[in-house]
Amino acid sequence: MREVYYKDIVSKVKLLCQEANYDLGQDVMMAFEQAARTESSDIGREVLNQLIDNAAIASENRVPMCQDTGVSVFIVKLGQECHITGGSLYEAINEGVRKGYEEGYLRYSIVDNPLTRKNTGDNTPSVIHVEIVGGDQLEIQMTAKGGGAENMSALKMLTPSDGVEGVKKFILNTVKQAGPNACPPLVVGIGIGGNFESCAYLAKKSLFKPVGERHSNPEIAKLEEELIQSINALGIGPQGLGGSTTTLDVKIEVAPCHIAALPVAVNLNCHASRHKHAVL
Ligand code: SF4
Repeated sequence: MREVYYKDIVSKVKLLCQEANYDLGQDVMMAFEQAARTESSDIGREVLNQLIDNAAIASENRVPMCQDTGVSVFIVKLGQECHITGGSLYEAINEGVRKGYEEGYLRYSIVDNPLTRKNTGDNTPSVIHVEIVGGDQLEIQMTAKGGGAENMSALKMLTPSDGVEGVKKFILNTVKQAGPNACPPLVVGIGIGGNFESCAYLAKKSLFKPVGERHSNPEIAKLEEELIQSINALGIGPQGLGGSTTTLDVKIEVAPCHIAALPVAVNLNCHASRHKHAVL
């Protein structure tokens, strides 16, 4: 059994929170640059160039790329030969978030109760998903998920007779309804299959994959490509000001489901598509 120390998880999580907010990933930067070359509208190109400048200024000055520093969402892969020493995994992650947000001057975006709405004052609790896997490593993936795009996300329990056409229609309608409110250009995360709760998790999980990477199953990859084209044909454009870049990418995750079901979840990510990764 390999030991991983509480304090090391705290330090790593603190760093991930700050890096996620200050340093937009190379995958997203490359997608911005590509889109700025192909965008059809003048204002769309101007917005994309502003997003590139904004990301560079944030990284250079160690300030957040957006005032909405998001909900800290983690997908943790815990090797079954790995033991956490000195405290619980959940406490370590939340302490790392607390330190990361306090010391990094990042906005606190969490309220303790959705109805009475008092800010918790340290951006905790985080949303933490733990998967037990083989091996002795602890893999931590983190995203700072913005509220605007999350608010425009949706899930629908379709039936098998709706088929792939019904799936596409629901996805396009969700993006259309989101319009400028999800802060495009987007990354569209899609879960297909599973059940009510696991379908939403599939959609979230898909957003942790690098922008520009296609699904390993050629049929799913083809559907991703088709959806990128259809979403960009909607004309919403960067920041909703019109243009040919409404989405930078579409990511799909699929899972087996009930014979009578066809769940579909669409988790939208904004242009501040912030995901970081570490292995301990
Ligand atoms: S949805 Fe994204 S881009 Fe829009 S305000 Fe929130 S973090 Fe910023």
